[in-house]
Amino acid sequence: MLRVVVVHPDLLGTYGDGGNALVLVARARWRGVEAELVQAPSHVKLPEGDIYCLGGGEDGPQERSARILREEGSLKASLDDRGVLLAVCAGFQIAGNEFPGVGGESVGGLGVFDAVTTRGVGKRAVGEVLVEPSDELPIPLLTGFENHRGVTQLGSNTRALGTVVRGTGNSRESCSEGAVSGRAIGTYLHGPVLARNPALADLLLEWALGDRGVLGPIDDSEVEKLRDERIASFRRRKTGLFGCRFSNA
Ligand code: GLN
Repeated sequence: MLRVVVVHPDLLGTYGDGGNALVLVARARWRGVEAELVQAPSHVKLPEGDIYCLGGGEDGPQERSARILREEGSLKASLDDRGVLLAVCAGFQIAGNEFPGVGGESVGGLGVFDAVTTRGVGKRAVGEVLVEPSDELPIPLLTGFENHRGVTQLGSNTRALGTVVRGTGNSRESCSEGAVSGRAIGTYLHGPVLARNPALADLLLEWALGDRGVLGPIDDSEVEKLRDERIASFRRRKTGLFGCRFSNA
């Protein structure tokens, strides 16, 4: 049985990222792999899981969630063992080394990613994002939606999930998006990201299953239409988006 745990949906549930867990469970079951979804609110001890999903959230709840997870210690221990992580936006920042708390002071994260988040100056990063994944990952372009003030700098021990084609991602200066470390993926993409990028969902499932199961082919024609539409929408827009690589497209 593959267990997918939604971590602290009461604190990190503002952006619909709980949908990522629904996608993981559905895509496993469609291939005949038994899977269960477990909601783990912040007042209960975090249960053991195969895949943990951390979602986005506002600054206060994000800080509270990080403090609980650090005190418990079990999420980091499970990830060091064999657990798989998808951490989105506030969740991504929590999984790094530090991020800004409500008062602007630095709050300690879980240290899954060698990454430090600080409060950005100027406008929040809000809008559609297109990302070219790192060559090491066997997945196509990633599409999603971002809404954050935090700016994340990766340290030398963590590589980016990909390069920003359109949007902001980790920071305007770096053109990098998200992070990969072992079997943990961090990203700024909401959407939910796995509904818009099923190949990323399957990659997480494969990491979690190891030799316990094989994922057969699946008909993704419907979601491919959505992806085509989202990717094409960038070509129609002439202004208003920061672009790292194809800014004149
Ligand atoms: N509060 C964080 C920020 O603004 C995360 C926001 C989010 O999860 N969308 O950077």
